[in-house]
Amino acid sequence: MTVNHKLVYELLEETVGPDHISDDPAVLEAYSRTGWVLGRKLKKRPGFVVLPGSLDDVQAIVRTANKYSVPFIPVGSFLHWSCQASYPETIILDFKRMNKILKMDEKNMYAVIEPFVTYSQLQAEAMKKKLWLPVPSSGGNTSVLANHLFCGSHFAMHRIPYYARAVLGVEWVLPTGELLRLGSAGYGDGDNYFWGEGPGPDLRGLMRGYGGVLGGLGVVTKIAVRLYPWTGPEIFPCRGVYPEKIFDFPQDLAKLYLGLFPTTEDAVNAVYEICKAEIGMSLHLVSTAMAMAPMSKSREEFMNLCQAFKNVKEFLLFMSFKTSPRVIDYEKKALQKIAEENKGMLLPDEMVSQLREGIPETIRSSVSMRILNPTGGYDVFRSWAESLDKLLDQLKEAKNFLQEKYGDLIYFYYMIPLELGHFGHVELSILYDPVTQLEEAYECQSIGLKQDAEQKMYVTGSAGVAHDILGPSYGNYQLLLRKIKKSIDPNNVSNPPYPIDGEK
Ligand SMILES: Cc1cc2nc3c(=O)[nH]c(=O)nc-3n(C[C@H](O)[C@H](O)[C@H](O)COP(=O)(O)OP(=O)(O)OC[C@H]3O[C@@H](n4cnc5c(N)ncnc54)[C@H](O)[C@@H]3O)c2cc1C
Repeated sequence: MTVNHKLVYELLEETVGPDHISDDPAVLEAYSRTGWVLGRKLKKRPGFVVLPGSLDDVQAIVRTANKYSVPFIPVGSFLHWSCQASYPETIILDFKRMNKILKMDEKNMYAVIEPFVTYSQLQAEAMKKKLWLPVPSSGGNTSVLANHLFCGSHFAMHRIPYYARAVLGVEWVLPTGELLRLGSAGYGDGDNYFWGEGPGPDLRGLMRGYGGVLGGLGVVTKIAVRLYPWTGPEIFPCRGVYPEKIFDFPQDLAKLYLGLFPTTEDAVNAVYEICKAEIGMSLHLVSTAMAMAPMSKSREEFMNLCQAFKNVKEFLLFMSFKTSPRVIDYEKKALQKIAEENKGMLLPDEMVSQLREGIPETIRSSVSMRILNPTGGYDVFRSWAESLDKLLDQLKEAKNFLQEKYGDLIYFYYMIPLELGHFGHVELSILYDPVTQLEEAYECQSIGLKQDAEQKMYVTGSAGVAHDILGPSYGNYQLLLRKIKKSIDPNNVSNPPYPIDGEK
């Protein structure tokens, strides 16, 4: 159907006002491609950018979209390529005006926020009240709401849940414009956001599931998220500008350890024991390149560091947080014992202190943006949630494959036990030169997807066509997902073709 651009513009303008809408080609161009390099091929200009200021605005925009069959995309900080328009005349909903922390409940440790509240913003306010939440490596600039709806992995998942499991009450505008409130927000006057499971409907599995639905099932306009106890300073203590930033955290707030193990199996056995002992705030097994990327200020420095550490396959990274006066001493002793029992050793403090960004990165990360530094291109090759043993086997196989077939791409990985080891998360990523190796990176990605389907791994973060490739290996779940898309979004306007192409 051809879109009457002028008419739709006028209706949207009536809703948000002339200052909060644009179809200027320069503005549209800025919204045509996200920072994610692999999205380059899908680059497309949208038709309109609107900045809604309220729930009413959002409902009106979504109703206009339905009436005139115009696709719309809600965006956060606009990082993921699913924010790029797939169809002409798409309406981008940018929430910069809806950026308020509506409530911070200290006693029950949660905050109610609007869509454009960023991690840095929420964390900074929470710290003043002795609360915090970890910032994922997509950075403090990303939207808390968008990241709680999509992905949601961070550096403290050993202790603090993956964010799919940290969503409480939700205000959700369905793709048709109707309003649905989830959890306790769906009960009474609609203003109680403290709980996700009820007494109103709990449809968080449908609203986001494990990996997220990428704006394909409507727009979330308000969300409550969990916060966690904080014993550090009220203000995140840093001076200067990256890459010369200096952090002045109190010496006794946190302690970082790096462990080396003869084999990955020994390291994973140690991870199991650390989880059983229930110690530590953050625990990762990271490959050398992963540890070096954020520390390096240039490509040259990155290559030199990788070379210097080339005989070290991986590190165990463990961080203690001072949650009570004696916890750091106790955790040190327990960690040392576990490392020894599993043939490992902890590096001397003098060496670990060189990693001066380890602690601040765990608290308020900006690491991923720096991962892009060394080569300019980054993407996830394989990413799974499984038991640690299963992850270990698959990781070995996938690393061998990369080494043999794509020896010229740099790869790195990390493995995090989730919620004290009940399951785990692995991301095996590639670094590539976006100018000379883009095609190779695409090919590598699509092979990874096929391998996931063959090996029936529990894949995190799959989207769009990926569901049709993976579905047949997993009980044909893609058929159910398509039915859901068609019934909730009958006019196929909510960020098509996500989470799956409803037209097929
Ligand atoms: C280098 C790099 C590193 C990354 N590291 C991490 C990481 O460590 N952890 C992690 O979890 N993710 C990570 N990501 C993945 C992902 O890009 C981010 O989780 C997410 O993009 C961050 O939030 P955002 O504000 O940019 O969201 P956006 O990219 O703007 O949005 C993400 C998705 O959510 C949808 N959405 C946004 N707002 C709404 C809304 N109000 N209602 C409904 N849907 C909405 C969008 O349509 C889009 O599909 C990384 C990405 C990159 C490029």
